[in-house]
Amino acid sequence: MTDNLVQIRNLAKEFPVKGGVFQREIATVNAVSDVNLDIPRGETIGLVGESGCGKTTLGRMLVRLLEPTRGTIEFDGEDITHVKGGDLKRFRRRMQFIFQDPYGSLDPRTQVGQSISEGLRLHGIGNKDERQERVVEMLEVVGLKAAHAGRYPHEFSGGQRQRIGIARALILRPDLVVADEPVSALDVSVQAQVLNLLKELQSELNLTLLFVAHNLAVVEHISDKVAVMYLGRIVEMTDRDSLYRKPLHPYTEALLSAIPIPDPDRAKNRQILYGEIPSPLNPPLGCHFHPRCPIAIEGICEVDAPSLAARQDNGGHLAACHLRTGAHINLDPRAP
Ligand code: SF4
Repeated sequence: MTDNLVQIRNLAKEFPVKGGVFQREIATVNAVSDVNLDIPRGETIGLVGESGCGKTTLGRMLVRLLEPTRGTIEFDGEDITHVKGGDLKRFRRRMQFIFQDPYGSLDPRTQVGQSISEGLRLHGIGNKDERQERVVEMLEVVGLKAAHAGRYPHEFSGGQRQRIGIARALILRPDLVVADEPVSALDVSVQAQVLNLLKELQSELNLTLLFVAHNLAVVEHISDKVAVMYLGRIVEMTDRDSLYRKPLHPYTEALLSAIPIPDPDRAKNRQILYGEIPSPLNPPLGCHFHPRCPIAIEGICEVDAPSLAARQDNGGHLAACHLRTGAHINLDPRAP
Protein backbone atom coordinates (compact mmCIF):
# COMPACT_ATOMS: atom_id res chain seq x y z
CA MET A 1 0.00 0.00 0.00
CA THR A 2 1.28 3.50 -0.86
CA ASP A 3 2.43 5.53 2.10
CA ASN A 4 0.94 8.97 1.49
CA LEU A 5 2.45 11.91 3.34
CA VAL A 6 -0.38 14.15 2.09
CA GLN A 7 -4.00 13.35 1.30
CA ILE A 8 -6.21 16.10 -0.06
CA ARG A 9 -9.93 15.48 -0.33
CA ASN A 10 -12.52 17.67 -2.08
CA LEU A 11 -10.41 20.75 -1.48
CA ALA A 12 -11.88 24.04 -2.67
CA LYS A 13 -11.00 27.69 -2.43
CA GLU A 14 -13.38 30.50 -3.26
CA PHE A 15 -12.47 34.18 -3.22
CA PRO A 16 -15.28 36.71 -2.82
CA VAL A 17 -15.39 39.60 -5.27
CA LYS A 18 -16.67 42.79 -3.66
CA GLY A 19 -18.17 45.82 -5.36
CA GLY A 20 -20.58 48.71 -5.08
CA VAL A 21 -20.68 51.49 -2.51
CA PHE A 22 -21.07 49.09 0.40
CA GLN A 23 -18.43 46.67 -0.87
CA ARG A 24 -20.91 43.81 -0.86
CA GLU A 25 -20.00 40.44 -2.25
CA ILE A 26 -21.10 40.49 -5.90
CA ALA A 27 -19.45 37.34 -7.22
CA THR A 28 -17.22 34.44 -6.32
CA VAL A 29 -14.02 33.23 -7.94
CA ASN A 30 -13.75 29.45 -7.75
CA ALA A 31 -9.97 29.26 -7.71
CA VAL A 32 -9.82 25.56 -6.76
CA SER A 33 -12.77 23.16 -7.02
CA ASP A 34 -13.06 19.72 -5.42
CA VAL A 35 -9.45 18.63 -5.77
CA ASN A 36 -8.41 15.16 -4.61
CA LEU A 37 -4.68 14.49 -4.52
CA ASP A 38 -2.40 11.99 -2.78
CA ILE A 39 1.30 12.75 -2.42
CA PRO A 40 3.31 9.63 -1.56
CA ARG A 41 6.19 10.06 0.89
CA GLY A 42 9.51 10.71 -0.82
CA GLU A 43 7.99 11.34 -4.25
CA THR A 44 7.71 14.39 -6.48
CA ILE A 45 4.39 15.45 -7.94
CA GLY A 46 4.45 17.96 -10.80
CA LEU A 47 1.41 20.25 -10.79
CA VAL A 48 1.00 21.94 -14.16
CA GLY A 49 -1.37 24.38 -15.85
CA GLU A 50 -1.64 27.84 -17.39
CA SER A 51 -1.59 30.98 -15.22
CA GLY A 52 -4.78 31.38 -13.23
CA CYS A 53 -5.63 27.66 -13.20
CA GLY A 54 -5.43 27.48 -9.39
CA LYS A 55 -2.15 25.58 -9.00
CA THR A 56 -0.47 28.18 -6.77
CA THR A 57 -3.63 28.52 -4.66
CA LEU A 58 -3.64 24.75 -4.18
CA GLY A 59 0.04 24.75 -3.16
CA ARG A 60 -0.52 27.60 -0.70
CA MET A 61 -3.51 25.85 0.89
CA LEU A 62 -1.45 22.71 1.27
CA VAL A 63 1.12 24.44 3.50
CA ARG A 64 -1.69 26.42 5.13
CA LEU A 65 -0.63 29.83 3.79
CA LEU A 66 -4.25 30.07 2.61
CA GLU A 67 -7.36 28.87 4.41
CA PRO A 68 -9.42 26.35 2.37
CA THR A 69 -13.12 27.08 1.82
CA ARG A 70 -14.06 23.37 1.83
CA GLY A 71 -12.45 19.95 1.95
CA THR A 72 -9.68 18.41 4.03
CA ILE A 73 -5.89 18.23 4.08
CA GLU A 74 -4.29 15.32 5.89
CA PHE A 75 -0.56 15.51 6.62
CA ASP A 76 1.21 12.43 7.93
CA GLY A 77 -2.11 10.98 9.07
CA GLU A 78 -3.37 14.12 10.87
CA ASP A 79 -6.09 16.45 9.66
CA ILE A 80 -4.43 19.86 9.44
CA THR A 81 -7.19 21.65 7.53
CA HIS A 82 -8.07 24.00 10.35
CA VAL A 83 -5.19 23.68 12.84
CA LYS A 84 -4.11 26.97 14.36
CA GLY A 85 -1.58 28.50 16.78
CA GLY A 86 1.04 26.17 18.24
CA ASP A 87 -0.26 23.12 16.34
CA LEU A 88 0.04 24.96 13.02
CA LYS A 89 3.56 26.10 13.93
CA ARG A 90 4.50 22.46 14.68
CA PHE A 91 3.31 21.41 11.20
CA ARG A 92 4.79 24.44 9.48
CA ARG A 93 8.22 23.32 10.56
CA ARG A 94 7.71 20.17 8.52
CA MET A 95 6.28 21.92 5.42
CA GLN A 96 8.15 24.61 3.53
CA PHE A 97 7.46 26.76 0.48
CA ILE A 98 9.90 27.87 -2.21
CA PHE A 99 8.69 31.07 -3.86
CA GLN A 100 8.70 31.86 -7.56
CA ASP A 101 10.48 35.18 -7.15
CA PRO A 102 13.59 34.59 -5.04
CA TYR A 103 14.36 38.32 -4.93
CA GLY A 104 10.90 39.33 -3.77
CA SER A 105 10.93 36.73 -1.01
CA LEU A 106 14.25 37.92 0.47
CA ASP A 107 14.53 41.09 2.56
CA PRO A 108 16.97 43.33 0.61
CA ARG A 109 18.30 44.84 3.87
CA THR A 110 19.03 41.51 5.57
CA GLN A 111 22.19 39.48 5.05
CA VAL A 112 21.32 36.18 3.42
CA GLY A 113 22.80 34.19 6.32
CA GLN A 114 20.22 35.80 8.61
CA SER A 115 17.40 35.18 6.13
CA ILE A 116 18.35 31.52 5.87
CA SER A 117 18.50 31.07 9.66
CA GLU A 118 15.19 32.88 10.27
CA GLY A 119 13.22 29.61 10.42
CA LEU A 120 15.61 28.22 13.04
CA ARG A 121 15.19 31.35 15.17
CA LEU A 122 11.40 31.33 14.84
CA HIS A 123 11.23 27.72 15.96
CA GLY A 124 13.79 28.24 18.76
CA ILE A 125 16.28 25.76 17.30
CA GLY A 126 19.92 25.91 18.45
CA ASN A 127 21.99 28.78 19.83
CA LYS A 128 23.61 31.47 17.67
CA ASP A 129 26.73 29.42 16.89
CA GLU A 130 24.78 26.28 16.08
CA ARG A 131 22.47 28.23 13.79
CA GLN A 132 25.48 29.80 12.07
CA GLU A 133 26.92 26.32 11.55
CA ARG A 134 23.66 25.09 10.00
CA VAL A 135 23.58 28.13 7.67
CA VAL A 136 27.11 27.39 6.41
CA GLU A 137 26.20 23.72 5.96
CA MET A 138 23.06 24.65 3.96
CA LEU A 139 24.94 27.17 1.79
CA GLU A 140 27.36 24.41 0.85
CA VAL A 141 24.52 21.95 0.21
CA VAL A 142 23.01 24.35 -2.36
CA GLY A 143 26.36 25.04 -4.03
CA LEU A 144 27.21 28.41 -2.40
CA LYS A 145 30.06 29.34 -0.04
CA ALA A 146 30.22 30.14 3.67
CA ALA A 147 31.42 33.67 2.82
CA HIS A 148 28.10 34.33 1.04
CA ALA A 149 26.28 34.41 4.40
CA GLY A 150 27.39 38.00 5.04
CA ARG A 151 26.22 39.36 1.66
CA TYR A 152 22.94 40.98 0.65
CA PRO A 153 20.41 39.64 -1.93
CA HIS A 154 21.30 42.23 -4.61
CA GLU A 155 24.87 40.88 -4.70
CA PHE A 156 23.65 37.56 -6.18
CA SER A 157 22.46 36.43 -9.61
CA GLY A 158 18.91 35.10 -10.11
CA GLY A 159 20.07 31.48 -9.97
CA GLN A 160 22.09 32.10 -6.78
CA ARG A 161 19.10 33.81 -5.17
CA GLN A 162 16.94 30.79 -5.91
CA ARG A 163 19.63 28.60 -4.31
CA ILE A 164 19.33 30.85 -1.24
CA GLY A 165 15.53 30.35 -1.35
CA ILE A 166 16.08 26.59 -1.43
CA ALA A 167 18.55 26.76 1.49
CA ARG A 168 16.00 28.77 3.45
CA ALA A 169 13.29 26.19 2.80
CA LEU A 170 15.48 23.21 3.65
CA ILE A 171 17.24 24.46 6.78
CA LEU A 172 14.40 23.16 8.96
CA ARG A 173 14.77 19.74 7.34
CA PRO A 174 11.13 19.62 6.26
CA ASP A 175 9.29 16.51 5.09
CA LEU A 176 7.31 18.36 2.45
CA VAL A 177 8.37 21.18 0.14
CA VAL A 178 6.01 23.05 -2.18
CA ALA A 179 8.08 24.72 -4.90
CA ASP A 180 6.00 27.34 -6.70
CA GLU A 181 7.43 27.86 -10.20
CA PRO A 182 10.94 27.92 -8.73
CA VAL A 183 12.69 28.24 -12.08
CA SER A 184 10.27 30.28 -14.20
CA ALA A 185 12.03 33.59 -13.40
CA LEU A 186 15.46 32.19 -14.34
CA ASP A 187 17.38 32.04 -17.63
CA VAL A 188 17.03 28.71 -19.44
CA SER A 189 20.70 27.83 -18.81
CA VAL A 190 20.30 28.41 -15.06
CA GLN A 191 16.94 26.60 -14.91
CA ALA A 192 18.61 23.25 -15.58
CA GLN A 193 21.14 23.80 -12.75
CA VAL A 194 18.44 24.64 -10.21
CA LEU A 195 16.25 21.73 -11.38
CA ASN A 196 19.16 19.31 -11.05
CA LEU A 197 19.93 20.66 -7.58
CA LEU A 198 16.31 20.18 -6.48
CA LYS A 199 16.26 16.66 -7.90
CA GLU A 200 19.51 15.72 -6.11
CA LEU A 201 18.34 17.19 -2.81
CA GLN A 202 14.95 15.52 -3.10
CA SER A 203 16.57 12.11 -3.40
CA GLU A 204 19.36 12.71 -0.83
CA LEU A 205 17.03 14.10 1.82
CA ASN A 206 14.06 11.88 0.88
CA LEU A 207 11.92 14.98 0.48
CA THR A 208 8.33 14.90 -0.64
CA LEU A 209 7.96 17.60 -3.26
CA LEU A 210 5.04 19.34 -4.94
CA PHE A 211 6.57 21.10 -7.93
CA VAL A 212 4.28 23.73 -9.43
CA ALA A 213 4.96 24.85 -13.02
CA HIS A 214 3.13 26.23 -16.05
CA ASN A 215 5.16 24.16 -18.48
CA LEU A 216 5.16 20.38 -18.81
CA ALA A 217 8.76 20.41 -20.07
CA VAL A 218 9.99 21.75 -16.72
CA VAL A 219 8.48 18.99 -14.58
CA GLU A 220 9.27 16.05 -16.87
CA HIS A 221 12.63 15.09 -15.39
CA ILE A 222 11.83 15.82 -11.78
CA SER A 223 8.36 14.30 -11.29
CA ASP A 224 7.28 10.76 -10.42
CA LYS A 225 3.68 11.68 -11.09
CA VAL A 226 2.08 14.67 -12.85
CA ALA A 227 -1.27 16.37 -12.26
CA VAL A 228 -2.61 18.81 -14.87
CA MET A 229 -4.98 21.57 -13.73
CA TYR A 230 -7.45 23.60 -15.75
CA LEU A 231 -9.67 26.31 -14.27
CA GLY A 232 -9.43 25.05 -10.72
CA ARG A 233 -9.90 21.34 -11.44
CA ILE A 234 -7.41 18.51 -11.93
CA VAL A 235 -8.14 17.23 -15.45
CA GLU A 236 -5.47 14.53 -15.72
CA MET A 237 -3.22 12.71 -13.28
CA THR A 238 -0.91 9.77 -13.73
CA ASP A 239 2.71 8.61 -13.54
CA ARG A 240 5.21 10.56 -15.60
CA ASP A 241 5.74 7.98 -18.34
CA SER A 242 2.03 7.47 -19.06
CA LEU A 243 1.42 11.21 -19.19
CA TYR A 244 4.24 12.05 -21.57
CA ARG A 245 3.84 8.95 -23.77
CA LYS A 246 0.06 8.65 -23.92
CA PRO A 247 -1.78 11.69 -22.59
CA LEU A 248 -5.55 11.32 -22.38
CA HIS A 249 -6.95 14.81 -21.94
CA PRO A 250 -6.97 17.09 -25.01
CA TYR A 251 -5.67 19.92 -22.82
CA THR A 252 -2.62 17.87 -21.81
CA GLU A 253 -2.08 16.98 -25.47
CA ALA A 254 -2.06 20.68 -26.35
CA LEU A 255 0.35 21.52 -23.51
CA LEU A 256 2.68 18.71 -24.62
CA SER A 257 2.58 19.77 -28.22
CA ALA A 258 3.55 23.31 -27.19
CA ILE A 259 6.93 22.03 -25.97
CA PRO A 260 9.45 23.08 -28.64
CA ILE A 261 11.07 20.08 -30.35
CA PRO A 262 13.90 20.57 -32.87
CA ASP A 263 12.22 18.26 -35.40
CA PRO A 264 10.27 19.87 -38.32
CA ASP A 265 8.07 16.75 -38.86
CA ARG A 266 6.86 16.73 -35.28
CA ALA A 267 6.47 20.51 -35.36
CA LYS A 268 3.96 20.08 -38.22
CA ASN A 269 1.68 18.05 -35.94
CA ARG A 270 1.56 20.76 -33.33
CA GLN A 271 -1.85 21.24 -31.76
CA ILE A 272 -2.62 24.88 -31.31
CA LEU A 273 -4.68 25.75 -28.27
CA TYR A 274 -7.03 28.51 -29.43
CA GLY A 275 -8.53 31.11 -27.16
CA GLU A 276 -7.68 32.31 -23.70
CA ILE A 277 -8.28 30.44 -20.49
CA PRO A 278 -11.83 31.55 -19.47
CA SER A 279 -12.29 33.67 -16.37
CA PRO A 280 -12.71 31.68 -13.15
CA LEU A 281 -15.37 34.28 -12.29
CA ASN A 282 -17.58 32.81 -14.96
CA PRO A 283 -16.29 29.37 -15.96
CA PRO A 284 -18.01 27.57 -18.86
CA LEU A 285 -20.70 25.08 -17.87
CA GLY A 286 -20.14 21.34 -18.31
CA CYS A 287 -16.51 20.53 -19.09
CA HIS A 288 -14.64 23.80 -18.43
CA PHE A 289 -12.41 23.02 -21.40
CA HIS A 290 -15.20 22.62 -24.00
CA PRO A 291 -14.91 26.09 -25.68
CA ARG A 292 -11.26 25.28 -26.55
CA CYS A 293 -11.55 21.54 -27.07
CA PRO A 294 -11.01 20.30 -30.65
CA ILE A 295 -13.01 17.09 -30.02
CA ALA A 296 -15.87 18.36 -27.84
CA ILE A 297 -19.15 16.47 -28.37
CA GLU A 298 -22.02 18.81 -29.02
CA GLY A 299 -24.89 18.46 -26.59
CA ILE A 300 -22.78 16.62 -24.01
CA CYS A 301 -19.54 18.44 -23.19
CA GLU A 302 -21.13 21.86 -22.67
CA VAL A 303 -23.73 20.38 -20.31
CA ASP A 304 -22.10 17.56 -18.34
CA ALA A 305 -18.99 18.10 -16.21
CA PRO A 306 -16.81 14.98 -16.53
CA SER A 307 -15.37 13.59 -13.30
CA LEU A 308 -11.77 12.46 -12.91
CA ALA A 309 -12.00 8.78 -13.83
CA ALA A 310 -9.63 5.94 -14.64
CA ARG A 311 -8.91 4.78 -18.14
CA GLN A 312 -10.16 1.23 -18.72
CA ASP A 313 -6.75 -0.30 -19.56
CA ASN A 314 -4.74 1.66 -16.98
CA GLY A 315 -6.46 2.10 -13.63
CA GLY A 316 -3.82 4.54 -12.41
CA HIS A 317 -4.28 6.94 -15.31
CA LEU A 318 -7.03 9.41 -14.44
CA ALA A 319 -8.60 11.98 -16.73
CA ALA A 320 -11.71 14.16 -16.70
CA CYS A 321 -12.99 13.67 -20.25
CA HIS A 322 -16.20 12.05 -21.52
CA LEU A 323 -14.46 10.84 -24.65
CA ARG A 324 -11.29 9.46 -23.19
CA THR A 325 -12.52 7.77 -20.01
CA GLY A 326 -16.28 8.11 -19.82
CA ALA A 327 -19.41 6.58 -21.28
CA HIS A 328 -18.80 8.24 -24.68
CA ILE A 329 -15.37 6.71 -25.18
CA ASN A 330 -16.45 5.07 -28.48
CA LEU A 331 -17.22 8.47 -30.02
CA ASP A 332 -13.60 9.61 -29.79
CA PRO A 333 -12.62 10.68 -33.35
CA ARG A 334 -8.93 10.10 -32.58
CA ALA A 335 -9.36 6.66 -31.01
CA PRO A 336 -7.15 3.98 -32.62
FE1 SF4 B 1 -13.16 17.86 -24.69
FE2 SF4 B 1 -15.54 16.94 -23.99
FE3 SF4 B 1 -13.33 15.72 -23.13
FE4 SF4 B 1 -14.02 18.12 -22.19
S1 SF4 B 1 -15.13 16.21 -21.90
S2 SF4 B 1 -12.01 17.47 -22.81
S3 SF4 B 1 -14.88 19.07 -24.00
S4 SF4 B 1 -14.05 15.89 -25.23
